[in-house]
Amino acid sequence: MNTVQNNFNLLPLNSFHIDYIARWFCCVETVDELHWLLSDKQFENQQQLILGGGSNILFTKDFDGLVIKNELQGIEKINETDAHIFVKAAAGVVWHQLVQYCISNNWAGVENLSLIPGCVGASPIQNIGAYGVELKDVFYSLEAFSIHEKKLLTLHLNDCEFGYRDSVFKRQLKNQLVITSVTFKLNKQPVFKTSYGAIEQELEKMKVHELSIKAISQAVVNIRSSKLPNPAVLGNAGSFFKNPEIDADKFEQLKTDFPTIAAYPLANGNYKLAAGWLIEECGWKGKTIGNCGVHQHQALVLVNYGGATGAEIFDLSTKIVESVQHQFGVRLEREVNIL
Ligand SMILES: Cc1cc2nc3c(=O)[nH]c(=O)nc-3n(C[C@H](O)[C@H](O)[C@H](O)COP(=O)(O)OP(=O)(O)OC[C@H]3O[C@@H](n4cnc5c(N)ncnc54)[C@H](O)[C@@H]3O)c2cc1C
Repeated sequence: MNTVQNNFNLLPLNSFHIDYIARWFCCVETVDELHWLLSDKQFENQQQLILGGGSNILFTKDFDGLVIKNELQGIEKINETDAHIFVKAAAGVVWHQLVQYCISNNWAGVENLSLIPGCVGASPIQNIGAYGVELKDVFYSLEAFSIHEKKLLTLHLNDCEFGYRDSVFKRQLKNQLVITSVTFKLNKQPVFKTSYGAIEQELEKMKVHELSIKAISQAVVNIRSSKLPNPAVLGNAGSFFKNPEIDADKFEQLKTDFPTIAAYPLANGNYKLAAGWLIEECGWKGKTIGNCGVHQHQALVLVNYGGATGAEIFDLSTKIVESVQHQFGVRLEREVNIL
C-alpha cells in the first residue's frame, strides 16, 4: 500500500499546471487498497477527490481533503461473440494506451477517440467524445466501488444516463462512486466513421488507399496534434465549455441577427451551437489576461501561459460566459470540473 502523503503539490497532476496543495494524497493500485483507504476513520468524513490524468479539472483553491490517484492497471479480453469482443480495462489505464491496444488487435470502435488525454476511469464521467463517436457507443458496463456501501457495484449502459459530455456520475451519483474498471464492446467488423471534421481530408493527405482503423486513428492523431495545444507544453484542459443547445425559435432569431452563426440541427428539433464561434465573435480568441488567456487558434480552449492561478482562469471563464450571454442571450456551461 502506498503511503498517504500530507500537503501534496498537485501541480504535476493537472493538465492546467495549477499550483495547489492537497491536504492528503494517496495512489491506489488495487481495489483492496481503495477499500482500505476509504474505510480509514481519518478520511471517512473528509472531502475526497478521485484523480485520473487531471485533464478535465480546474483547481481554484487548495484541496482540503483526500485526493486519491487511481492507478489500477490492466487490460484483458473477457469475452467474444461472432461480432464482438468484450475488453475490460482498469480505471488507471491511460486512455490512448487502451485505444492503441485495441487497434493493434484489430478491435474496432475507439479509433475516432484516439489521443484524448486522461484515464479509462474518467471516460464515462463526461461520456468522452470526438470525431462523431462517444464513449457510450462502445460502452458495455463498468465496475465501481461505492464510497458509502464499501462494495463493488456493476452498472450497465442504461444505468449511466449518458448524454452530451454528461452522465449520471456528474449528477445523482456525483462523488459517490470510484470507477475501478470499464468493459467495452468492440466490433470485429469495423464501421468506419470518416465524415466528421477533417478526417477525410487528412486520410487523403496521408495517401491512404485502403481504409483501416489504424489509418483513421492516425488521421485523428495528426489532426488533434496540429489543432490542440499540447498540455505538456501549454497548460490547458481541452474544451473549457460545452456546445450549448437551443430550441428552434431561438435559433431562427439568432440566425436572423447573425447569419453566419455556426450550428447544426439535432434529432429532437433543437440546435447545437459551436461555443468556439460564439466566443470568437465576442472577440476573445487570442486574448490574454494576466498569465492566462484564450488560445490563439482555439477559442474554446483556455490556457495557462505560466503561473496563472485557478481562480484567474475561472474569472476569465466567467467573463466569457457573461459576454456570450450579453451578446447572444445564450448561457455557456463549463465542461471542465471546477474544484
Ligand atoms: C488537450 C485536451 C484535449 C481534450 N479533448 C477531449 C475530447 O476530444 N473529448 C472529450 O470528451 N474530452 C476531451 N478532453 C478532456 C479530458 O481529456 C477528458 O474529460 C478525460 O476523460 C479526463 O480524464 P482524466 O483521467 O484526466 O480525468 P480527471 O481530470 O482526472 O477527472 C475528471 C473528473 O472525473 C472524475 N474521475 C476521474 N477518474 C475517476 C474514477 N476512476 N472514478 C470516479 N470519478 C473519476 C474526477 O473526480 C473529475 O471529476 C481533453 C483534454 C485536453 C487537455
